[in-house]
Amino acid sequence: MDFRLSEEQEALRESVRDFAREVVAPAIAEHYEQHTFPYEIIRQMGKMGLFGLPFSEEHGGMGGDYFALCLALEELARVDSSVAITLEAAVSLGAMPIYRFGTDEQKARWLPKLLSGEALAGFGLTEPGTGSDAGGTQTRAVLDGDEWVINGSKAFITNSGTDITSLVTVTAVTGTKPDGSKELSTIIVPSGTPGFNVAPGYSKVGWTASDTHELTFDNCRVPAGNLLGERGRGFAQFLRILDEGRIAIAALAVGLAQGCVDESLRYAKEREAFGQPIGAYQAIQFKIADMEMKAHTARLAYYDAAARMLAGEPFKRQAAIAKLHASTIAVDNAREATQIHGGYGFMNEYPVARFWRDSKILEIGEGTSEVQRMIIARDLGM
Ligand SMILES: Cc1cc2nc3c(=O)[nH]c(=O)nc-3n(C[C@H](O)[C@H](O)[C@H](O)COP(=O)(O)OP(=O)(O)OC[C@H]3O[C@@H](n4cnc5c(N)ncnc54)[C@H](O)[C@@H]3O)c2cc1C
Repeated sequence: MDFRLSEEQEALRESVRDFAREVVAPAIAEHYEQHTFPYEIIRQMGKMGLFGLPFSEEHGGMGGDYFALCLALEELARVDSSVAITLEAAVSLGAMPIYRFGTDEQKARWLPKLLSGEALAGFGLTEPGTGSDAGGTQTRAVLDGDEWVINGSKAFITNSGTDITSLVTVTAVTGTKPDGSKELSTIIVPSGTPGFNVAPGYSKVGWTASDTHELTFDNCRVPAGNLLGERGRGFAQFLRILDEGRIAIAALAVGLAQGCVDESLRYAKEREAFGQPIGAYQAIQFKIADMEMKAHTARLAYYDAAARMLAGEPFKRQAAIAKLHASTIAVDNAREATQIHGGYGFMNEYPVARFWRDSKILEIGEGTSEVQRMIIARDLGM
């Protein structure tokens, strides 16, 4: 058992770390404050190959693996989560369904631009009336001749309304199975298709420099060939995508938790109270020691889940554990980092204020903490 990174993995981690510090850090606060999408940063991430990390070279990817994506996410989130979630959603939710389940034609048409970061794709599962209970999907798609006609709506869809969004994959009810249950399928809806409407962006607590919209489909027609994979496989497809995605979200959460340690260490050495740096007080040292312990153990949890996934072993439980633990400790660390910063921690100009606002969603998105506990308990045979 060896959790040390290879030379190649270390090199990737260092290059993303440098990029996050030199390019993301100076520019992101303005985007965060103004709620604007950081196109220039995303363009540069595309040039670095980050959007192609876990994909084969045959399709325009970098020939790496899912763990490489996780390393990049951790380093980005150590500085900023809006940029990190944009990459996470673009790769693991946007491009991955097409890569895993698409036909050769769909892959050839969509993947090159998605994997170079020139285009983004959204993953349309959640609806205004149903999130955790994704089987409750109401959006319907009916085959009319050689077209699907889609009606319904989706909520909170990341990367669905940027200037470079090329498509959204939409989960829809396409019929009834012989046992009476819903037949769910996934359909590719290109941006700009008539009847596919993107509402203005939400006003969010955090991740304010990322792109999130409600979508409506009003007699939206797409070719029958836009079905992703087999008809009726929608449920199995999104379960697979979400299982993997949990490892990526765990990596992102670890990055935020580690960023809280970085900022707290720096501040504890600078800020003085009662005649000495606050870092000289054991109460502050213990807070930072606990934060480091939490980031470290959560990192091991996502490394383990990723290793199992890449070995082709079952990883559902480990991915849920990693996501649950990492998101919990990210919230803990953000709270403590804010505390260590005192009043300044409550000021938006300090990165820890962003970390605090960005941490809570980690316990909600891609499966809430309750859903992770349900998955773990079910896997234990309950
Ligand atoms: C910024 C942002 C970006 C997002 N991006 C995307 C995206 O790109 N694509 C996408 O499809 N979705 C996206 N989501 C949606 C996200 O995945 C859902 O919000 C999440 O899965 C929870 O669903 P919900 O909001 O409907 O909550 P609900 O499912 O309504 O849950 C409400 C509460 O009830 C609890 N609960 C529900 N069922 C149970 C149960 N059986 N037992 C115990 N407790 C239960 C939940 O844990 C939660 O605490 C995004 C959300 C946000 C906020």
